Amino acid sequence: MAHRIAVIAGDGIGTEVMPEGIRALEVAAKRFKIDLAFTTFEFGSCDYYLEHSKMLPDDWFDQLKDFDALFYGAVGWPDKVPDHISLWGSLLQFRRQFDQYINLRPCKLMPGIKSPLAGREPGDIDFYVVRENTEGEYSSVGGKMFEGTEREIVLQETVMSRVGVDRVLKYAFDLAQTRPRKKLTSATKSNGISITMPYWDERVAEMAKHYPEIAVDKFHIDILTANFVLHPDWFDVVVGSNLFGDILSDLGPACTGTIGIAPSANINPEGKFPSLFEPVHGSAPDIAGKGIANPIGQIWSGAMMLEHLGYKEAADAMVTAIEEVLSEGNRQVLTRDVGGQGSTVSLGQAIAERIGG
Ligand code: ATP
Ligand code: MG
Repeated sequence: MAHRIAVIAGDGIGTEVMPEGIRALEVAAKRFKIDLAFTTFEFGSCDYYLEHSKMLPDDWFDQLKDFDALFYGAVGWPDKVPDHISLWGSLLQFRRQFDQYINLRPCKLMPGIKSPLAGREPGDIDFYVVRENTEGEYSSVGGKMFEGTEREIVLQETVMSRVGVDRVLKYAFDLAQTRPRKKLTSATKSNGISITMPYWDERVAEMAKHYPEIAVDKFHIDILTANFVLHPDWFDVVVGSNLFGDILSDLGPACTGTIGIAPSANINPEGKFPSLFEPVHGSAPDIAGKGIANPIGQIWSGAMMLEHLGYKEAADAMVTAIEEVLSEGNRQVLTRDVGGQGSTVSLGQAIAERIGG
């Protein structure tokens, strides 16, 4: 039976890199005999908003809930629609309503890409950041008192539930189990945040009992961010709460060079709802419409989607194709952000050809 994929390209360069993501997936699907059926949706873009005064139709949930995955470009066009409307009205709705409680980002230095960390080579940086995506510090529980006076007080609570913490930890331990190094690092701050973070540490220690083969360590978030920069080779799977994971999942890909190549996934591991796969970059209005956006983030997100659907071999072939094209370093093919003079299409085509084998 075909895997049904909902495609939402969104705005700006999202609409330019999406066709290359689909091209790559179609080639991989053909080679590995995977049946993919794409359905494109116009909603979830600022143009849709300007026409309908909302980012999504009222029945978006029913329209999307039975898909096997959402393949997503980028949303946002701040000159036309404020970010809090475009983002909250689309992407964040998907994450919440489809209970995508894992945000997953590979941080892998690719050949031919210069890391901003001096002297780092491919192989030195190859880890995952797993972020809790639904609770923690981003709880909106709180309030204001004595507003507008000198006694003004604002308060926002961190919410950690046992179910919420355990499920992200389990995902991270399971992921570490699949990796050769079998190592898990937990982000904490239990020396300063004295209730929720010791609880987080406790749940990590508890979960670790079920995974005796995995080497577990933990760092306070301040020194952990320093170690991402100083010793990225230490890490394999790094797990953090919503806020800490948010910080680490921007810093990690930043250590691996251009923002144009980093992929990400928002996952509902049980498959009760569709998971969403998208490049880390946004709609990049400054380069939109020029045909120069790097499509690798979108293509690599497609690889993560295939892996999620159970096709690890096909996913690996896609990532290998990206590595090969990057390491060849043909300037006519590569986009400008990675030192070339080519276009979104030239780079997408080169990778697709390579995926074809
Ligand atoms: P957001 O607000 O969602 O983070 P944005 O539109 O403000 O998104 P980003 O997409 O994060 O901006 O990109 C920041 C800068 O990085 C862009 O201005 C652009 O120059 C560059 N960039 C982003 N994506 C790509 C890409 N795929 N190829 C080349 N350059 C990119
Ligand atoms: Mg931005």
